[in-house]
Amino acid sequence: ELDGWHRDFRAGFPIITAHPGLAYLDSAATAQKPRAVLDAVQTYLTTANANAGRGTYPWANRTTELVERTRRRVGEFLGDPGGSGSAVHFTSGTTEGLRTVARDWLTAHLTDGDEILVPHADHRANLDPWREAADLLAARGVRVRIRPLPYQRGSGDYDHRALPALVGPRTRFVAATHVHHVYGGDMNVHRLRAAVGPGVPICLDAAQSVGHLPVSVSDLDVDFVVFSGHKALALPGTGAVWARNDPRRGPEFRPGGWRGTPNTVGIASLEAALDALDTAGVDRIARWTTALTARLTEGLARLAPYEILGCQASLTAGTDVQRRHSLVSFRHPAIPSDDLGFILFSHGFMVRADTLCQAGADETEGVVRVSVHGYTSVAEIDRLLDVLASLA
Ligand code: PMP
Repeated sequence: ELDGWHRDFRAGFPIITAHPGLAYLDSAATAQKPRAVLDAVQTYLTTANANAGRGTYPWANRTTELVERTRRRVGEFLGDPGGSGSAVHFTSGTTEGLRTVARDWLTAHLTDGDEILVPHADHRANLDPWREAADLLAARGVRVRIRPLPYQRGSGDYDHRALPALVGPRTRFVAATHVHHVYGGDMNVHRLRAAVGPGVPICLDAAQSVGHLPVSVSDLDVDFVVFSGHKALALPGTGAVWARNDPRRGPEFRPGGWRGTPNTVGIASLEAALDALDTAGVDRIARWTTALTARLTEGLARLAPYEILGCQASLTAGTDVQRRHSLVSFRHPAIPSDDLGFILFSHGFMVRADTLCQAGADETEGVVRVSVHGYTSVAEIDRLLDVLASLA
């Protein structure tokens, strides 16, 4: 039923239609850009390019409007009803976004003896900033205890049953991931919120979910959403932090420092990307990519030697495959990942066959990650499974 929708969506990506022999299966690293985004960049640069916020002439005013309009657009895209004091801050991506929350907000929020809960087996970008914030505070004599968000090895999920024992009266902050970049699992933010209670701010790394599935700040009840525009069809060097700014959960988020020239071209691309995602329907993208992911996961599970990361247990139990979004990581017991990446490229498949920047005890040695988007076709997945079967 989504076939016609997918054909139209795919046709909007010039790089894909220009390379019929190649299959881009690395969208979790960065997404391809639709014509609407390329056009918006071209239009901006040929009709209004100027600096923002210092305008006495129309191009500068239009650039300032673009930045402010896109700020509101990001909030709206994330289901923020607006008018509640929430803030949107543009960054170069999720890494800088998380670091900004840590440096400009968390360090101003914590006092001696406070505790924070942070993931230890998610993306590195979601661990280092919290450690750096704690080190910065320690240098000022403020001791903060970092507790690892409990993890169920092999399942790709947080260990929600172990959570209540880790949350106490000094828990002031929780960092979490929406969709895991190695396992593809939805990390179940609702259960996290239920475990930590209503008063503790939660910061969500939504790098792998924004643009892939509906992300609603009111539904998720989180306080920060951090994402990368370039994984959501916009240009590289784009991203944003959305902050709820609820005084019951901490001080206002007001990123400090000297504000230089914003990435106006990137912001123009982000506005067009969010429009393109809304036009296509993020719910349709989610249904398409979840179906492709399930097809790939089930196909791989039938091929004896491959080990699929993070969902072997749920596959055995016959559950949960539908909860995996857009990416699958797996390992061939005898073929190293760079060789497998090379073999797959010789068949036209572009996959991730390098380290996956996982924090902690990195489980991704020898792993290949295949990731999809709304433009990925069923035929590409089936051809990939055929090649993987021939290597099994
Ligand atoms: N968090 C997650 C979950 C990611 O997948 C990524 C990108 N691989 C990042 C953070 C970092 O994003 P960026 O490179 O855009 O800063």
